[in-house]
Amino acid sequence: MTTTDKIAGDPGIDMPATANDNQARPSGVRLIFEETSPGRMGADLADSDESERRACELLGQEHCRADIEDFPELSEPQVLRHFLRLSQMNFGQALQFYPLGSCTMKYNPPINDELANLSGFAALHPLTPAPLAQGAFELMVRLERALAEITGMDAVSLQPAAGAQGELAGLLIVRAAHRKQNRICHKVLIPDTAHGTNPASCTLAGYRAVVAKSNRRGYLSASEIRQRLDDDVAALMVTNPNTLGIFEPEIEEIAYLLHQRGAMLYLDGANMNALLGIAKPGDMGADIVQLNLHKTFSTPHGGGGPGAGPLAVKQHLEPFLPVPRICQEGGIWRFTYDRPDSIGRLRSFYGNFGMLVRAYAYILALGSDGLESVSRNAILSANYVRKRLEDRFPSASPEPSMHECVLTHDLETRVQVSTLDLAKRLLDFGMHPPTIYFPLVVHGALMIEPTETESRETLDYFIDVMRQIYEEAVNRPEIVKTAPHQLPLGRVDEVRAARHPILRWKKSSAELDH
Ligand SMILES: *Cc1c(COP(=O)(O)O)cnc(C)c1O
Repeated sequence: MTTTDKIAGDPGIDMPATANDNQARPSGVRLIFEETSPGRMGADLADSDESERRACELLGQEHCRADIEDFPELSEPQVLRHFLRLSQMNFGQALQFYPLGSCTMKYNPPINDELANLSGFAALHPLTPAPLAQGAFELMVRLERALAEITGMDAVSLQPAAGAQGELAGLLIVRAAHRKQNRICHKVLIPDTAHGTNPASCTLAGYRAVVAKSNRRGYLSASEIRQRLDDDVAALMVTNPNTLGIFEPEIEEIAYLLHQRGAMLYLDGANMNALLGIAKPGDMGADIVQLNLHKTFSTPHGGGGPGAGPLAVKQHLEPFLPVPRICQEGGIWRFTYDRPDSIGRLRSFYGNFGMLVRAYAYILALGSDGLESVSRNAILSANYVRKRLEDRFPSASPEPSMHECVLTHDLETRVQVSTLDLAKRLLDFGMHPPTIYFPLVVHGALMIEPTETESRETLDYFIDVMRQIYEEAVNRPEIVKTAPHQLPLGRVDEVRAARHPILRWKKSSAELDH
């Protein structure tokens, strides 16, 4: 790095000055294949010839090869250092501020991991006879009850393994319940602010997604729903607070209108982090709501790891919940499949059981007051960020924000600096960018969800950096447009990376790149 500038009044923030800093690479970013040294070995496999021979016998010779071309040969410390270094090049909530809107990347207390790893839970075989797994059953039942209480609903299924699977199950329940009344509907109303999984789940469940427009203030009006409602509408699927981070103020009237026509209210509960202990979807008139335990109830997520999307319903839909249900017979908890109206099974086993343990531990540790303060602090953080950035990054909606704020800017028209450029520049300051270009109704959106677990100092740092990047964009836009400058990789060609991934290393491909 040649020069550094500092934010006026904040000696804590260093920043690279020129795009040439792109040359600065942290040491040790070589590929593991490039570190190889023939004959070097990290482990002493005494009997390897014999075990190789036996493995080949079992597999058949045609499935065995003598050598793997270009297989790296390294010492044990080389391997350890390589992978530890790689792990630290990643962005993660444990290392960085991670205000990724809609995803609730809050701090996940490691004590919950420790509890999920208790051998009685972690090593429980999925086919263990019920009498020997009573603790696990009891935990699930208690979690179901806690989630019913939190959402104001009557019954909960822990089957769905993700928010999106909860959505699908919920819509299949709508279909099953309507069929039971000899009613066939083809449409589901979805607001234009909806998360992409909502229309996708509709399509998977065999419905047609029909867009309901949010009004200029960013929410769904009862009059819009009144206009769109007809006998072919099975349900409205709405997120509350919606993806603009705005509470849907007409939700009760909307629920009333839907119910009058025999349609249902599906509430996408992925944003429950704004409502804990404050408001219940059940009180808003929801018939069905899914929760994203991996968001609201503090389990690590991202990168496609395990999730959990429990589904909560009102009593009239309880018979349709997926099987198995958990019931008690003669004092013993067990699974029951004897549920003639059930939509059936969504998946085989509870491979994500650890998520349930974490969520239950989190709920118990906080208690009802603690849960309420989670949401109140999440709301406070989002409004603090919004207020302190509003002269540079105005809010997309005049309504007060809940747990996240959606901001806009004029840099695209003013100096051709895009939202993507701003996001990439944030990486140089050691922060994960917010969600960008979502919701789709907001041009160039920055969707910021600070969560309740970040300190005032972290929020102030983020705010200072955002303001600095704004000034940079105006005065020296090339710095922002070519960011990031401080990471092992600069701006990647995302389309090429997705369309032409290089999945197998070859000496020739490495030479090409050098
Ligand atoms: C995250 C999210 C979903 C989907 O949840 P997954 O667990 O990722 O399937 C649905 N709706 C909203 C509003 C979300 O934020």
